[in-house]
Amino acid sequence: MIIAIDGPAGAGKSTVAKLVARKLGYLYLNTGAMYRALTLKALDNGVDISDIKKISALASASVIGLINNPDGSLVVTLDGVDVSLAIREPRITKLVSDIAKIKEVRQVMLKLQREMGRRGNVVLDGRDIGTVVFPQAEKKFYLDADLKERVNRRHKELNSLGREVTVDAVNSDLTNRDKIDTGREIAPLKKAEDAIYLDTTFLTIEEVVNKLFFYING
Ligand code: C5P
Repeated sequence: MIIAIDGPAGAGKSTVAKLVARKLGYLYLNTGAMYRALTLKALDNGVDISDIKKISALASASVIGLINNPDGSLVVTLDGVDVSLAIREPRITKLVSDIAKIKEVRQVMLKLQREMGRRGNVVLDGRDIGTVVFPQAEKKFYLDADLKERVNRRHKELNSLGREVTVDAVNSDLTNRDKIDTGREIAPLKKAEDAIYLDTTFLTIEEVVNKLFFYING
């Protein structure tokens, strides 16, 4: 079975997707991490992110891997190097949506994601999984939450990682990414018509996971 979980940043997608995958013994694929890895490569190679040709060439020449550890954690590799931490840096978060809106980049990622998920028994989270990557997914969810709550969650998460960042900065990051992700021409963030919509604003992670299982088993 393929389980697709889409929605904006801070809605709880990756935490929930990881837990669902673990409980089912499925593979977990965090597609946002792939766009982040490419952004890291562009920055580290000094490639101008508005140079679509160079960015596209970089995407085609990159080997991005997502490895599920037995303890449930996810390792992201770029050309064989573990970049799990580096891709969460603010400099990546700031630019990732501008790279993810490039058509040629999305074509490369789409192919990779389909290859990775093709065998089934996989949970994928992202922005376009239920609409574009796996429109035939057996279970589709769209997780959402109020902007204020999403900002608070992301702020807490960053603080717990030792990153000193203000609520205002997180607010503008999420607002900016929401705008680019929903407004782009190719594969914009939106709920698939047949996806189950869940507002997680007032729900705990456990409650969200339970709700998902209600539909997965139903
Ligand atoms: O999931 P995460 O917030 O880490 O994703 C980072 C960015 O990657 C998103 O803001 C979005 O621009 C892009 N993305 C995408 N399509 C996906 C997953 C992520 O465009 N399927």
